[in-house]
Amino acid sequence: MSRAISRVKGTKDIFPGQIARWRHLEEAVGDVCGLYGFREIRTPMLEPTELFVRGVGEVTDIVEKEMYTFQRSEDSVSLRPEATAPVVRAYLEAGFDKNAPQQKLYYIGAMFRYERPQASRQRQFHQFGVEVLGSSSPLADAETIVLACDLYDSLGLEQYETMINSVGCVDCRAEYRAALSSALAPRLAQMCEDCNRRHGRNVFRMLDCKQARCTEVMAEAPSMAASLCEACHQHHAEVLAAVEAAGVEYIENPRLVRGLDYYTRTVYEITCDAIGARSTICGGGRYDGLIAELGGPSLGAVGFASGMEATLLALEKTGVEPPADGSAVDLFLILIGDEQRPSGFNLATKLRRAGVSCQFELGVKSPKAQMRAANRCGARFTLFFGPAEAASGRYKLRDLTTREEVEVGFEEVCSRLSAV
Ligand SMILES: [Zn+2]
Ligand SMILES: [Zn+2]
Repeated sequence: MSRAISRVKGTKDIFPGQIARWRHLEEAVGDVCGLYGFREIRTPMLEPTELFVRGVGEVTDIVEKEMYTFQRSEDSVSLRPEATAPVVRAYLEAGFDKNAPQQKLYYIGAMFRYERPQASRQRQFHQFGVEVLGSSSPLADAETIVLACDLYDSLGLEQYETMINSVGCVDCRAEYRAALSSALAPRLAQMCEDCNRRHGRNVFRMLDCKQARCTEVMAEAPSMAASLCEACHQHHAEVLAAVEAAGVEYIENPRLVRGLDYYTRTVYEITCDAIGARSTICGGGRYDGLIAELGGPSLGAVGFASGMEATLLALEKTGVEPPADGSAVDLFLILIGDEQRPSGFNLATKLRRAGVSCQFELGVKSPKAQMRAANRCGARFTLFFGPAEAASGRYKLRDLTTREEVEVGFEEVCSRLSAV
């Protein structure tokens, strides 16, 4: 016997018993996004590496350490670590920026990051997200935040926290960068290696550091709010007012910067403590520089991404009842006698084409064993099919719940089953 093969580290199989939960989440995403006027987009999982180097930022953990990158002939391609840069790439490549610049899009799909696998972190994981491209309105920011909260509410998630901050624009960030950099310079000896490296390259990333000794120093560092320019301050106030008017509870968190380089003005995070202290289920913000960075015109954009594994875990940990597993068939054929197998197969085909979901035992089994299989697969009815039934076209249909048994013809099997 050959050695069995295991799945790639950091990936997971999603088995039939889990699928109802996934579909339920995917459908809720589609439904709520539809209510908000977002349309689905599907982009490739493979993109030019350069897209992420430019779109996510060279000095980020994602691009520095976590991408699955490989060379094929002349081209360096990467498995997408996130979907915002690909969506913007597709938007520009299709010419939306010229013909219909305001686009509201959502996506659902697999992402890939070479991270140290942990319970909550996989190397292939799944995200859904929304992007409003071509709008600078603070209402667009608010719309994405309220959409996310409406979605979690519609799923029945109750324990989550929404945090919002503004990281300013290119102008006021420069002022903040200088203030932060000089405030932190004398404290670098107390901070971690990563922070020391970030100080020279991207000081804002230091705000993200989760190391206790670093967060201690950061608590005393100046906050962005004091450096916001008038226009950014105004934008931020309008976002908060719109979110508040929608009845969404939020916390202003001046330390929130998010891990990615491209954010401007609004950043936000939705966390659920039930899956770990301050564990993020959704992160997003405005990224006004990205469309231009990827070769398009200067247009505003805002969006979020939400981890599907984290969302499902949050639902489970907070006791939200999972949706019913609707994958059981309605009818199980009990084939009496070996010679009935070909005509049993034909009957199953006829039933399936008439819209009745049915199964039968593929191997040769006794009627008793077939009954056990019917119970195991959760069938609601059984139908006995032997030489007499084949000849008469009348079948014994048994309801496994009520134990009621009737003798019916093909048409009535279909009408009874479609009424279930
Ligand atoms: Zn500004
Ligand atoms: Zn640090």
